[in-house]
Amino acid sequence: MGTATTPTHCPYCSLQCGISLRVAEGTTVLEPIDFPTNRGGLCVKGWTAAKLLDHPERLRTPLVRAVPGDRRSPLRPAGWDEALDRVVSAVREAQSRHGPDSVGCFGGGGLTNEKAYLLGKFARVALRSSAIDYNGRFCMSSAATAANRAFGVDRGLPFPLADIERAEAILLVGSNLADTMPPAVQYLERGRSSGARHIVADPRASATARAATLHLQLTPGTDLALANGLLHLAIRTGAADDAYIAERTTGFEAVRSAVASYWPDRVERITGVPVAALRRTVAVLSEARSAMVLTARGAEQHSNGTDTVQGFVNLALALGLPGRPYSGYGTITGQGNGQGGREHGQKSDQLPGYRRLDDQAARAHVAGVWGVAPRTLPPPGLSAYEMVDRLGTEAGVRALLVLASNIVVSAPDRDRVLARLRALDFLVVCDFFLSETAVEADVVLPTAQWAEEEGTMTNLEGRVLHRRRALPPPRGVRTDLQILTALAERLGYGAHFSSDPRTVFDELRRAASGGIADYSGITYERIDEEQGVFWPCPAESHPGTPRLFADRFPTPDGRAAFVRAEYREPAEQPDDDYPYVLTTGRLMRQYQSGSQTRRIAALDEVPAAEIHPDLARRHGIAEGDPVELRTRRGAALFQARLTDSIRPDTVFAPFHWGGTASANVLTDPSLDPHSRMPAFKVCAVSVARGGPA
Ligand code: SF4
Repeated sequence: MGTATTPTHCPYCSLQCGISLRVAEGTTVLEPIDFPTNRGGLCVKGWTAAKLLDHPERLRTPLVRAVPGDRRSPLRPAGWDEALDRVVSAVREAQSRHGPDSVGCFGGGGLTNEKAYLLGKFARVALRSSAIDYNGRFCMSSAATAANRAFGVDRGLPFPLADIERAEAILLVGSNLADTMPPAVQYLERGRSSGARHIVADPRASATARAATLHLQLTPGTDLALANGLLHLAIRTGAADDAYIAERTTGFEAVRSAVASYWPDRVERITGVPVAALRRTVAVLSEARSAMVLTARGAEQHSNGTDTVQGFVNLALALGLPGRPYSGYGTITGQGNGQGGREHGQKSDQLPGYRRLDDQAARAHVAGVWGVAPRTLPPPGLSAYEMVDRLGTEAGVRALLVLASNIVVSAPDRDRVLARLRALDFLVVCDFFLSETAVEADVVLPTAQWAEEEGTMTNLEGRVLHRRRALPPPRGVRTDLQILTALAERLGYGAHFSSDPRTVFDELRRAASGGIADYSGITYERIDEEQGVFWPCPAESHPGTPRLFADRFPTPDGRAAFVRAEYREPAEQPDDDYPYVLTTGRLMRQYQSGSQTRRIAALDEVPAAEIHPDLARRHGIAEGDPVELRTRRGAALFQARLTDSIRPDTVFAPFHWGGTASANVLTDPSLDPHSRMPAFKVCAVSVARGGPA
């Protein structure tokens, strides 16, 4: 048998690094390729991704409970017919007793565009249920909401990544690219070697912050006070671009008056950032001919995350950046298809093309493509955490289908989430490993992986990519598209569904046509020829749109909107019982809930919490000691890692583990009122030397 080499993309984050997979008899060799996002670079996760494919813990057959309906009975192997029949009979039972919305779907930002699209269609056509949302609510929704309010569109970066190295100044808020997306650091390094100045706002002196020109080590949760303080200074020092504000924006006066009270000394008291550093930040941004304001999860995952991002968007607008060459505002998406995953209908309020589900014209258009009457499409449903928080209740979902998500590890307030999942009448999980969520299920359906099926992904730049199939799935495993189609057939809607990715993508293009995220002109062939195509791309003759906003914003009046954003304290404040601030985040070697990366020996590591030496001394904690972190919701055990890179009032814990080291046992489920994103980044915590970590 000969060898075949397939160019494709890493299965993990939104950089979607280009790789090649060479499959020879019994072996799969992965190497980086020179793709525009990674330019030959890969991080340690990407290098080891092929080990997922033939992993010994891989699921290769459906699993069902030995005693139907009894989740205390063991999971046993089953045939596909038996497993699918159990799912369909649970769907029928729930819907006949409790109505269509009693069956819900929970998707993921790792799903290809085709799968995200088909899952949204499955919920609305085959289930007629409004109960669908996805884990992107946990990581991107605040930036998406803020960008939509300001610009009329949400595309993570409205310019190509390569523009980053041409920006003379960058303010990067709440992102540690050096650990989360290492190949992207080359853009920052190249910029600095050309004289660019970079400012990083982060409670931790992360590797990214240490490499920057200036580090603003703010108190967690005070980002919006920082943004408003910088805008206040920009206005007072004459750095605001009055001509741009007059010609290209609306709403400035209300924001000007809102930030009038954010005097530098007040902002220093709130944020801990010295006045001199605030002044220098404004000077660096305003003196540059090109400048960017970039935010990530550190700015978003708060109970005021949308307003926080809005504050930085306001700053970028006041400086006249969006639409200027090598300048603008952007957010750095996390999950592999975090961008495309929120464009095609797996979000509770959206239809394909980033259309609103409550828009009558959009409903009519999409219903036409789906071959159903518009009135049969359900209304918008609840957001992800709100849906989870009502599972098993009288008015909530009774039977849940989970794809590409490990909710038990990734959702806040883990014990509450577990209780809700256990209250369900029926849980079905599609996954390729027996995740912490899958072990709770009535039925587990084994799915194909990234290299075993074809599809498209939309990366952090809005570049639509082709993830090619390099090898077939193992015997006994099906693709998510095949699973959704098989369920739709059994529910009597088979004629509306196809499991062929190219057929699904062509239908997605028609459904998205005319929407904000217009994919009409994007084909698999064009993606291959052009190394990806940027949306919007309304026709096959259209070149795609790498840069947005040069002439106008896609708002009704063509202008960007300033939106007033007032700082308020995080929902949960330290007190005598919980005297410190806990913030959570990612590590370089792990990805999301860790369900994949924790299974790769080369990425193995001990879950460790970062603690300042002064705080550790106060509690008699030494390097490597077990340490118990406790919040109002529960306790978790980590190994202590002492570092002066963190503030003495703050503890950092990674969120990649389940079990006793589950950071999300601790986190606060308070939701942002606009995006419904939980406050992962701040809660009050106590610290003590603990039992074995
Ligand atoms: Fe690239 Fe992200 Fe994969 Fe690392 S995890 S190789 S940065 S796509």
